[in-house]
Amino acid sequence: MRVRITIVGCSGSFPGPDGPASCYLVEAEGFRMLMDMGSGGLGAVQQYAGLYEIDAICLSHLHADHCLDVCGYSVARTFHPDGPKPRIPVYGPAQTGVRLGRALAADPAADDAGADTRDRITEAFDFVTITAGTIEIGPLRVTAERMNHPVETYGYRLEHAGRSLAYSADTGPTEALVRLARDADVLLCEASFVEPADGDAAPLPENLHLTGRQAGQHAARAGVGQLVLTHLVPWNDEDRTLDEAGQAFTGALSIAAPGIGFVLD
Ligand SMILES: [Zn+2]
Repeated sequence: MRVRITIVGCSGSFPGPDGPASCYLVEAEGFRMLMDMGSGGLGAVQQYAGLYEIDAICLSHLHADHCLDVCGYSVARTFHPDGPKPRIPVYGPAQTGVRLGRALAADPAADDAGADTRDRITEAFDFVTITAGTIEIGPLRVTAERMNHPVETYGYRLEHAGRSLAYSADTGPTEALVRLARDADVLLCEASFVEPADGDAAPLPENLHLTGRQAGQHAARAGVGQLVLTHLVPWNDEDRTLDEAGQAFTGALSIAAPGIGFVLD
């Protein structure tokens, strides 16, 4: 009765030289769900699961680095030589199907040809709108909370057989993340920013992302067992982020990397 999480991609804001943008494979009782499917995720996930072995997709928000490979996946599910694959659910914020349909369309402004292409994505996927609250997805109990990010963004808490993983998605500082991650076994938390060094002129933008230190502070206040830092931007210095987080959180601490898996059991 265990849950396995595999980091397919964890590069912040855009793919890095060594891996895709945000994409995490969650497996429990033979059920496979992708949490986010950012740029590059579709290719790399095939190292860990068959292309058609995914049962559901759960998106945190509609920034390209968290959702855009759903478009490519719709092509793979629709045009297989043996015929279209059955629809699977895609959970996401309001308008997820419409937005991804527009991205897939050759000319989103053209009502005729564009409409056909937009419809294609709803033939591949059953879009389900996420709101704050708890739902069941396969064997997983999934709680969504609004995060502090410029677009509608949900952090998720996944629970199964008494074990729990919280995922911050993209967020600035927020009490909602502390609530969501309360006593979780693992917090997978974004750490996009680094703390300004003495003499840095520009302050960090507010209500957008966390620094390593802020990720550590949220983890400490939530009392999580383990903190895994993710969504570092390719230009970041990983050691600096790890050091910042370690000053605020004294539990088990690591940085996400493609191919790393961890088991909750
Ligand atoms: Zn974002």
